[in-house]
Amino acid sequence: MSRDPHCVFCKIIAAEIPAALIFEDDLILAFLDIGPLADGHLLVIPRDHYIRLTDVPPELCARVASVLPMLSRAALEVTKAEGFNVLLNQGSVAGQAVPHVHFHIIPRKKDDQLGYRWNAGKYPEGRASELTAAFQDALTHHSS
Ligand code: AMP
Ligand code: ZN
Repeated sequence: MSRDPHCVFCKIIAAEIPAALIFEDDLILAFLDIGPLADGHLLVIPRDHYIRLTDVPPELCARVASVLPMLSRAALEVTKAEGFNVLLNQGSVAGQAVPHVHFHIIPRKKDDQLGYRWNAGKYPEGRASELTAAFQDALTHHSS
């Protein structure tokens, strides 16, 4: 099991610092976010220290993903939320502050003022087919 002694989530896993634990098994931990964007905001992490989703072995990623429906259902029930966002930030440019891969489950209610919205763009002529070809090439040559 890999671990970074300076990582705050690894410290939670090792019970060196407290957290409000919601779920744990042999590979996964879920706990309340200490700075919730909404009531019941959860973080779901693998026990293994990986900084990036792109480094997580597919089998481990599948295990982490497999608990998302169960935890999301519990979040809906407990908070009486009407929906939720599942979010992962990779890289500081995307807002990642803690360098241990984690999924956010953020319960949502009507008019909750969370304001999670991006401005949708539009592809210029030809860019979508260019991207499709580039993705196919990337997935052919670099798929795990
Ligand atoms: P991100 O910006 O995606 O890296 O999210 C990191 C999240 O971790 C933030 O929402 C923080 O509030 C949360 N966080 C940081 N330290 C702790 C902690 N000790 N216990 C629980 N959540 C934490
Ligand atoms: Zn860690």
